[in-house]
Amino acid sequence: MSYTSMLLESMHHTREKEIIEELQDFHEKDYQFSSGHILGSMCSQPHPIAKKAYELFLETNIGDPGLFKGTREIEKRFIFFIQNLLNAPPTASGLTVSGGTEGNITAMWLAKQLSQNQEIIIPASAHFSFQKIATLMDMKLKPIPLTPSFQMDVSQIKKRISTQTAAIVGIAGSTDLGVIDPTEEIGDICRDENIYFHVDAAFGGFVIPFLEKIGYPNYKFDFTVDGVSSISIDAHKMGFAAIPLGTLVVREKEWLEEISVQSSCINSAKQAGILGTRSGGPVAAGYAITRYLGLEGYQDVVKHCMDTTFYATEQFQQIGLSLVREPMLNVMCIRLKKPQKVVTMLEQQGWKVNLIDHLSSIRIVCMPQITREHIDAFVPVLKEVCSKAGEI
Ligand code: PLP
Repeated sequence: MSYTSMLLESMHHTREKEIIEELQDFHEKDYQFSSGHILGSMCSQPHPIAKKAYELFLETNIGDPGLFKGTREIEKRFIFFIQNLLNAPPTASGLTVSGGTEGNITAMWLAKQLSQNQEIIIPASAHFSFQKIATLMDMKLKPIPLTPSFQMDVSQIKKRISTQTAAIVGIAGSTDLGVIDPTEEIGDICRDENIYFHVDAAFGGFVIPFLEKIGYPNYKFDFTVDGVSSISIDAHKMGFAAIPLGTLVVREKEWLEEISVQSSCINSAKQAGILGTRSGGPVAAGYAITRYLGLEGYQDVVKHCMDTTFYATEQFQQIGLSLVREPMLNVMCIRLKKPQKVVTMLEQQGWKVNLIDHLSSIRIVCMPQITREHIDAFVPVLKEVCSKAGEI
């Protein structure tokens, strides 16, 4: 039977048992976070309480808050947690979003509305969601080169500011290397020039607030930095929540008016943000995990991830590999001559790392489910692969 005929056949009624078996077969083809073999992803295995909460709220539509008042209350409480984590002022407000991409798109929509301008100054390390932003909203990206330590080169910002600048973006935990841009210096420029400053903390937002207390260097990135206008942060990355969940926090509540439309037929006069109908499941899951872990629990999670990262760093160095730069967060890039070859060979052995081609490296992220035991199991495989590939 051809593939198309098989798909046509499957359009008819099927018994539940058969469907579930089929789904399980498909799922077995997926890599599982629980195996500890997914080493390159920035997502985590959702905590059991997040799974339970997700299922309880499966039928809710957070885009219709008049109908789902309880779910809306959960969303408010979840946003409150995030605002406090980010030291937001009492004037602040926030929106739950599907993740870092939607958080960035929404922030740039707001910046465009407030300024009526269309240029965005970004570090060269910005996430590719900014390319989508440029096309979707007809905005122009002005990338700033990075310093040798892979941070945005602040000395280059002023010459790229023009009367058309809508926003400057800094990153708190870059996608490739987990690097944090010098937020205070960027904030000073934004304050002095009265320019919207968005911090993309999709990855670092759930890590950086805990670093100082667990003995790692602290970095400023939140609303205590003068000039920060908005921050996006993802709960489905280091927040241990279920996909899809992020939050965009803005310094002034009334700014949300700029990205709101009149809405009929949803039991609410206005709707802010991009999406319409969206599940309350991820929001309930995010709320449940923040309640369950609390700030103390997140601190332990971050300690585990950071300690595992530096343990892994030592192991990689012991087998003769070197990193592109010292980790600031729980993200590492191993420099290689032919990284694609190593990625393929590791995949043949059942390990998934991410290719970071432009840095000639592979990325490893020590997410909460990754333990020292996983690293101990991975390192001999990496050593064998790298030696066969002529890397060591
Ligand atoms: N911003 C940063 C810094 C990221 O690392 C990512 C994803 O890795 C995103 C934004 C996009 O997040 P998402 O894939 O959840 O849309």
